[in-house]
Amino acid sequence: MKRISEIYGSTKGPVYSFEFFPPKTPEGDVKLMETVKELSSLHPDFVTVTYGAGGSTKDKTVEISSLIGKNHSIPAVPHFTCVGADQAQILESLKRIRSEGILNLMALRGDPPKGQGEFKKTPGGFENATELISFIRLENLDFCIGGGCYPEKHPDAKTLEEDVRHLKLKVEAGADFLVSQLFFMNSAFEKFLNLVRKIYKRVSKTDFTK
Ligand SMILES: Cc1cc2nc3c(=O)[nH]c(=O)nc-3n(C[C@H](O)[C@H](O)[C@H](O)COP(=O)(O)OP(=O)(O)OC[C@H]3O[C@@H](n4cnc5c(N)ncnc54)[C@H](O)[C@@H]3O)c2cc1C
Repeated sequence: MKRISEIYGSTKGPVYSFEFFPPKTPEGDVKLMETVKELSSLHPDFVTVTYGAGGSTKDKTVEISSLIGKNHSIPAVPHFTCVGADQAQILESLKRIRSEGILNLMALRGDPPKGQGEFKKTPGGFENATELISFIRLENLDFCIGGGCYPEKHPDAKTLEEDVRHLKLKVEAGADFLVSQLFFMNSAFEKFLNLVRKIYKRVSKTDFTK
């Protein structure tokens, strides 16, 4: 199975993917697999499978990613967050994902549980995605790691510039590729990309000119 970084590295053209979320019912499971089969005829470069808020779909996310990878030979990337788990629990989950033969992972901080305004790290857990990604690298689990980015700024960041500076730390910690939050105005994405290029200029190992 290919690493997502290899896919981006081997083409100058667009790379496209579909995002699926784990169904809540057995009927939904059947429908999802029918949909995956239908969409696979469009030859997406990869697909991703979301992780329910607070880890509510933890096992299901991995199970679906593994099934898609095995049955359709499409790299299927599970999303993963550090909400509600300490380092030992995170490590156990990551090892389980790796044992399914999954090479690619979207490593995210996650949102605070409903009703909890601010994100608070779980005792013994991680403050942000940068810490999670550093941990995955230190544990040598050999994942190709994706991170999230926000063309219109992450809500917790004071400014877009501050957010992009944090994004640089995320890449330096070991993120191999980034997937953006949805945006509706191309101009917002262009502004974001220009800022990324400006802030990354001095980082020789990262090529953001493509
Ligand atoms: C493509 C994509 C897919 C997603 N899929 C899911 C999903 O499946 N399940 C789910 O629950 N959520 C998902 N989310 C939502 C995501 O969990 C939330 O947006 C969450 O609030 C932030 O996650 P993050 O990994 O981007 O966080 P981070 O990168 O940790 O950013 C969160 C805040 O911390 C700041 N920050 C980051 N690094 C540092 C640092 N080193 N020092 C100081 N501050 C820092 C950032 O500027 C930002 O304000 C997804 C988001 C995206 C963009």
